[in-house]
Amino acid sequence: VGAALAKRGVKLMRGMAYKPRTSPYEFQGLGEPALQIARQVADKYGMFITSEIMDQSQIPMFLEYVDVLWVGARNMQNSFLLRAVGKVNKPVILKRGAGATLEEFLYSAEYIVSSGNPNVILIERGIRTFEKWTRNTLDIGGVAVLKLETHLPVIVDISHSAGRRDIANPLARVARASGADGLMVEVHPNPPVAMSDAKQQLTIPEFNAMMDQIVEMA
Ligand code: PEP
Ligand code: MN
Repeated sequence: VGAALAKRGVKLMRGMAYKPRTSPYEFQGLGEPALQIARQVADKYGMFITSEIMDQSQIPMFLEYVDVLWVGARNMQNSFLLRAVGKVNKPVILKRGAGATLEEFLYSAEYIVSSGNPNVILIERGIRTFEKWTRNTLDIGGVAVLKLETHLPVIVDISHSAGRRDIANPLARVARASGADGLMVEVHPNPPVAMSDAKQQLTIPEFNAMMDQIVEMA
């Protein structure tokens, strides 16, 4: 996967070590060895890596391996963690909570910025609505509003918004058209055997097809 991503010009690779799962009985991630693997792959192919940090006690370990810290949707309002990553000298990706308004989202970003770290990247990853045919509802209006209201980069996570690979292409195009600065996309060489979120992982050919569409549009 690393080779395929690098070939398409991907600069920042996700490498999860701690996977927040709804059920405690599902795969939770490999921990530090995963960070070592992600670092090796990123170095081999000249990419940066980001990984989700769960707790401020993990900061020293994360600083050793990752280029960009990332706070997930479930921790968006964990003010202790937000303040702690606000004291770190690396960029921080902040995902919108599934039930958070844009105002709450930006207050969370303020926790990081006001603690001393101006390098925050916002991610819209879908919000919880009554709709069930998508995992979450991509708030594309929210992306446009964030682009108006802040100077921070905004990225769209089409994988967790949709929860399904078959609508990745239209969501990627719509994200691009809305002015988003980037995409977060899960890619797997063989999705059926993925340890988590198998239904939303793109195969490498699907990822390439999506990139072709975006490049054409851009
Ligand atoms: C993820 O990106 O793998 C993830 C767990 O997403 P979220 O925090 O948006 O639920
Ligand atoms: Mn996931």
